Amino acid sequence: MSINSIRTCITCRKQSSPTSLLRVVCIDGALVLDNEKSLPGRGAWVHQSCLATAISRGAFKYALKLTEQPNELDAKDMKLK
Ligand SMILES: [Zn+2]
Repeated sequence: MSINSIRTCITCRKQSSPTSLLRVVCIDGALVLDNEKSLPGRGAWVHQSCLATAISRGAFKYALKLTEQPNELDAKDMKLK
């Protein structure tokens, strides 16, 4: 994956550079912030300002193509570095 590639926010669908988005992955059913944006597997990209909406919509399950609803509240304290 190129760091210059453009990612789409799972909440607002606006396209942004990866540096302006949080990358969230699911590991063993838990949502984890990928600070280095380097963890393998499917990632969900979301603006900091869109995070609360993503959680309230339960957007991560769809974005990460999970079969089980993750605990979306795992993501509530995630901060963009
Ligand atoms: Zn957004």
